[in-house]
Amino acid sequence: MQLHITPLDLQLQRPFRISRGTQYQARNLLIEIEHDGLKGIGEAGPDSSGYYGETHETMQAALEAFAEVLSDDPLLIEDIIVALDHRLHHGNTAAKSAIDMALYDLTGKILDMPVYRLLGLNPARTPVSSFTIAIDTPEEMARLAAEATNYPTLKIKVGTSRDIEMVRAIREVSNATLRVDANAAWTPKEAIRTIEALAPYGIELIEQPVAAHDLDGLRLVREHSPIPIIADESCVTLEDVPRMAGRVDGINIKLAKCGGLRNALKMIHTARAHRLSVMFGCMVSSSLAITAAAHLTPLVDYADLDGALLLAHDPFQGVRFEQGRIRLPDAPGLGVTERTAEMK
Ligand code: MG
Repeated sequence: MQLHITPLDLQLQRPFRISRGTQYQARNLLIEIEHDGLKGIGEAGPDSSGYYGETHETMQAALEAFAEVLSDDPLLIEDIIVALDHRLHHGNTAAKSAIDMALYDLTGKILDMPVYRLLGLNPARTPVSSFTIAIDTPEEMARLAAEATNYPTLKIKVGTSRDIEMVRAIREVSNATLRVDANAAWTPKEAIRTIEALAPYGIELIEQPVAAHDLDGLRLVREHSPIPIIADESCVTLEDVPRMAGRVDGINIKLAKCGGLRNALKMIHTARAHRLSVMFGCMVSSSLAITAAAHLTPLVDYADLDGALLLAHDPFQGVRFEQGRIRLPDAPGLGVTERTAEMK
């Protein structure tokens, strides 16, 4: 198999602010794995702040190292993923996930079958995805929420001194289901107080109220919260899942955090064994990485796959959203194609 790596620079429509910083663009990487005249494609896109230790440069270096361990049989996905972990044991999960999704794409094309079908999943069981309203003034956030009429579920980014005002302003103009994501910004005490104040606005779930390492804080918040608590920054890989049991109600899985579809499947089943609900999330990325994640969503309770909807120009097309509901493409593999110039 041949691996090709090219830059995939993506511009956001508007600055995307969360509690720990503002993102203006995503410097992702596009990979192609070629085998016997067929091509599988994948996208490497980390958290833009380097929060999980990956940057554009580390992904490039990791992918070059991974090129050396690709075997000649793309259907041996498990062996290849194990070989990636042997080559670079820790982290590099966004790079690993690009290889993983390209192998699923290639396998699907070889077997002439969409990925969801390879995995035995029912495309009618996909959930509704949320659309994110990033941090801004409460007035501007309310304006964006009022405009987002195609999305019946909104995720509100908080973690400022005006969190309650923001949610109140959005609720005044929108009947959408509302999710709140603090991105680890609150102390446990602040979290308990703020969640109590937010409860009357009808919030579906709260994501990552406290610092990632503060597992006792998570438990404390959950014990006092009338709203379900979902771990995101605290639950990165498979090994994190068992310790989430009893501390939160559910976990947010992302391909770029866990290393790809194969690891995500293991996390979903492990979460179920621990009676945790499952959300599928994303980083800012094109429809390539978003569609790869979407193929697993018949297995999850919540989806937050709006990463490509935030872009000024999306170079790929694949998954679609109909009033937020995820519609999977049924072409072989991931079912992702490049957009033509006019469509961009
Ligand atoms: Mg989150």
